[in-house]
Order: sequence, then structure tokens, then C-alpha cells
Amino acid sequence: WPAPDHTGAGCFLAHSGLGGTVCMSQITFEPWNDPSAKPLIEFKGVTKRFGDFTAIDNQTFDIYEKEFFALLGPSGCGKTTMMRMLAGFETPTSGKILLSGQDIAPIPPNKRAVNMMFQSYALFPHLSVWENIAFGLKRGTMPKDEIAARVEQMLKLTRLEKFAQRKPHQISGGQRQRVALARSLAKAPKLLLLDEPLGALDAKLRQDTQFELMDIQEKTGTTFVIVTHDQEEAMTVASRVAVMDDGRIIQADTPAHIYEMPGSVYVADFIGDVTIFEGRAKRAEGGYHIAFAEGHDSLFAASDLDLSEGQTAYLAIRPEKVMITPERPEGARNALEGKILDIAYLGNLSTYHVALSNGQIVKAQTANTRRLANRPFTWEDSVWVSWTDTAAVLLER
Ligand code: ATP
Repeated sequence: WPAPDHTGAGCFLAHSGLGGTVCMSQITFEPWNDPSAKPLIEFKGVTKRFGDFTAIDNQTFDIYEKEFFALLGPSGCGKTTMMRMLAGFETPTSGKILLSGQDIAPIPPNKRAVNMMFQSYALFPHLSVWENIAFGLKRGTMPKDEIAARVEQMLKLTRLEKFAQRKPHQISGGQRQRVALARSLAKAPKLLLLDEPLGALDAKLRQDTQFELMDIQEKTGTTFVIVTHDQEEAMTVASRVAVMDDGRIIQADTPAHIYEMPGSVYVADFIGDVTIFEGRAKRAEGGYHIAFAEGHDSLFAASDLDLSEGQTAYLAIRPEKVMITPERPEGARNALEGKILDIAYLGNLSTYHVALSNGQIVKAQTANTRRLANRPFTWEDSVWVSWTDTAAVLLER
């Protein structure tokens, strides 16, 4: 098994919630920013058509070794098609997919250094956990004692030693998920494809399993490509998240960049909660004023975009960056008066929907850091929402 040298620089990686991958010794894992890094997978102008329907539209992008790459997007956007082409169950209509520099088109699925783990896990019910993990290895040329050693290693990695002799129906859903993972990793593939790997688990177990999955991915150094519907899951586990729409990757970036620096309204809106103001841009020092409605002051956003005078632009602001106060805060450039329409209490957070006089809703979120604090605002209260000059992102489209 390759030594767990996660970055090639002796660096140990940790994941941190929405922040993506953080390196403990300050050396960041960002091969996509390193021009000398060789990608493990290269999509080169890949198009996939089913009849006259284009499922994947001329996509060119790279995935690097040891990445945990998440494909995220609405139903039907092409995530599974992307995976199936990597696994070899579909071939591109045009374009090429390279694995370690080699075109994979002529290589049959079972000969690729790629494995796919399905949502259903597809375990053999009549075989024990041990035999399930050994199954793929036994079909190869590996000597018996090496197979046994590898199975033991996999059991240890996935903490299943105690369950080796049980059948799949004698273990829990989370344990079955780990058996499927152990089996997929047994042959040490270069690339593991995971299609909704945690879909069958309940919310709490799912969260724990996300951390386990990250841990196992880091220990083995295998490149993971995951398809998920759950944006929080993608943000938690992935080194990069690719947000897809209509057969195209709209933005592929670290979770933190996707969240804080979305490149379009589509991405800002798809990941997390956001309020979008559409307005006309007027250049100002260090950014733009955005006139968004009659009777409201224009908003200001720091930005290096190059917009023409009067161009339509979109100001995107995340709810946790919006302050909510009973009075207009002194000196705030971005302050709007409105009425509280809705309050969502989530335990740790409260989200307020504040309606402006033009009908626009602004979302503001506060952290409930004190257990017994009185809820300061209630429905129909007149309040001010405000944010700093750099809190919002200005977008062209
Ligand atoms: P979901 O999240 O619902 O699984 P997805 O993003 O994985 O969706 P795909 O399964 O990749 O989407 O499908 C992309 C598009 O291609 C869909 O519109 C689908 O109907 C179409 N498609 C997929 N496979 C075929 C096929 N064999 N024949 C015709 N159309 C197909």
C-alpha cells in the first residue's frame, strides 16, 4: 500500500467543514494550481450524446492524484454519465478521457485501475464480510497468503475486524457501507468512483461516515470522485467541488472558494443560502454602487470586475454576513430597512427573512451563542439589515 504521504511534502491533511482541505503544516494541497503537477484524469473536449440529446457538453478539466473530487448538481445534469464514462460503462461520443496520460477508451472496465462503489453496495448476501472483500482479489492472480493479508489490512482500515465472519444481513447499514468501501479499495485502484455512497444512511450516521471516508481516503492516498445530491456532504469531504448544470461544469473549486467566491448567480444560489440583488452598476472607488430599487439607497460592493456604466449586475450576500439591528447602524453604507416576515429557528442558528418595501426578501442569520438569550426580534418588527463593503460578491451573470 502506498505510504500515507498525502501531499508529497510530508504534510498531513485535515478537512474542516465548509473550509475544505486544510494542511496542518501550512503546505496546501492544491495541485490544480501547480503548473508542474500531472493530472491523474484528463477530460479533453468530452461530449456524450444519447441520440440527439447532449448529456455532457464538450468538457475539458483535470482531476489530480489524491484528490477528493465531488460532482454536484441538480438531477439530470450529467453526474452519473460522467462517472459511467470514467468507469467504462459508457464511451464518449467525442473527445478523450486520459488516466495517467493514457487514453482509457480501448481499456475494458475490468482492466481499468478504476473501481466504482454503488449506492446499493451490491454485496454478496451469501458471502461473509471477509469473503466479500476477498472476492475481487481471488479472481485475479494474487497468491492466497497475500490475499489474506490484504483482506486483513482492509478490515483494519475500515474497522471491521470484529465482523469478518458475519454475513451482510448480520451487520448494520453503516458497517455494510464500510464493507463495500473495503471491497472497492482491496485491489488498490488508482481511482475510486463513489455514487451517492452515503445515500442509504441516516443523517447522524452519514455525518460520522463522511469523516471516516475522508480519513480512509487520506490514509490510502486513493483519488476519489464522488457524486452526491447533498451539498453539505460535498463541501465537507471534497478537496474540490464541481458544480454542474446541463452537462457542463460551471465552476470547479475548493469548497471555500465556491462558497465565498462563486463565479455566477447559479453557483451562489446552488451552494448555501444567499440573497441576490439585481441592479444597475455605477462605478465607485474600489467597486460599484448597485441601484436595485426605487426608493432604496444603492448598495456598494467592493469588486475588481470591469463593468460598463449601467450594466446589469448581481450582488450576492450570504445570510450570516447580514447584521440585523433595531436601528440603522451608524456609518454603514449598506443598510436597508424592512419588516420581519419569517423566522426559522434551527437551534444553533436563527434565520430571519426581512421584507423590504419593494417586496425583496433579505435573509439574515444570527448564531444563537447563548442558551437563555431572549429572542430579540419577532414577526412584523421593523428592523435594519446591513453588511460591510466587502461582505457581498458582485457577479456579472
Ligand atoms: P441524478 O442526480 O438524477 O442521478 P445525473 O446528474 O446523474 O442525475 P445522468 O444520469 O448523468 O444525470 O443523466 C444526464 C442526462 O442524460 C439526463 O437527462 C438523462 O435522462 C440522460 N440519459 C442518461 N442516460 C441515458 C441513456 N442511456 N439514454 C438516454 N438518455 C440518457
